[in-house]
Amino acid sequence: MDKDRLKKLASEKRFIPGIYNYCDRWCERCPQTSHCLNFASSEEEFADPETRDVQNEAFWLKLSEAFRDALELLKEAAEEHGIDLENLDTEQSHEESEQKDAMAKSHEICRAAKVYSDIVQDWFASPANLLVASPALDRGEAGLEEALEVIRWYQHFICVKLMRAVRGELDEKEEDLDEYSKDSEGSAKIALIAIDRSIGAWGTIYAHDSFQNEKILRFIAYLDRLREEVEKTFPGSRSFARPGFEKIDTGK
Ligand code: SF4
Repeated sequence: MDKDRLKKLASEKRFIPGIYNYCDRWCERCPQTSHCLNFASSEEEFADPETRDVQNEAFWLKLSEAFRDALELLKEAAEEHGIDLENLDTEQSHEESEQKDAMAKSHEICRAAKVYSDIVQDWFASPANLLVASPALDRGEAGLEEALEVIRWYQHFICVKLMRAVRGELDEKEEDLDEYSKDSEGSAKIALIAIDRSIGAWGTIYAHDSFQNEKILRFIAYLDRLREEVEKTFPGSRSFARPGFEKIDTGK
């Protein structure tokens, strides 16, 4: 999509600004696709069925076009905001950025979330669980497929969003953003939502009684502790209003 078409699309009133910043990127299950510029632009970009196939050359050609358009937009935006792209202090900022990445990675909630994603990986890889899951899925046991899908979707997502939250907070401390909504809290909020939903999904699996229930209880307990730690680390996260999702988050 060329930049003029993107600008025109972005000017449509139906879009909620920034809605895609704190969502779970699960567009197939999203109740707000009609208000999301990100969704609309990728639908338009990849409308041709061939372009949807990642194996297809057209997909990569589209991506390289998108890359060129993005660079054009970057130059325009830099000019508009008086940013000298040639003289950005990239060496220092790269070093600082790497240090902050390392700090975020070693933060206890990020490490705990990484452990969770690894143990879930092992659980799915376990032949015993596969043996139980396949016939249960074939029988179409209520809610099981969806529950497994939910766990898989959020398995790595939780860690990624917590890393972003911790990393973002390090930047915010330098920028003194006390009075504004913080990106770190938005990221922590969507991580918490992912944790809540994963707990619910494990609960559904537990109810099936086909798996090793003790192990599933451990997953639930582990996530519950992680949930508490995230709430303590980011006290403002639960009340963060995600653009476009406030009604859904609060149930009102
Ligand atoms: S807001 Fe919804 S449609 Fe847009 S990127 Fe996020 S999940 Fe996808």
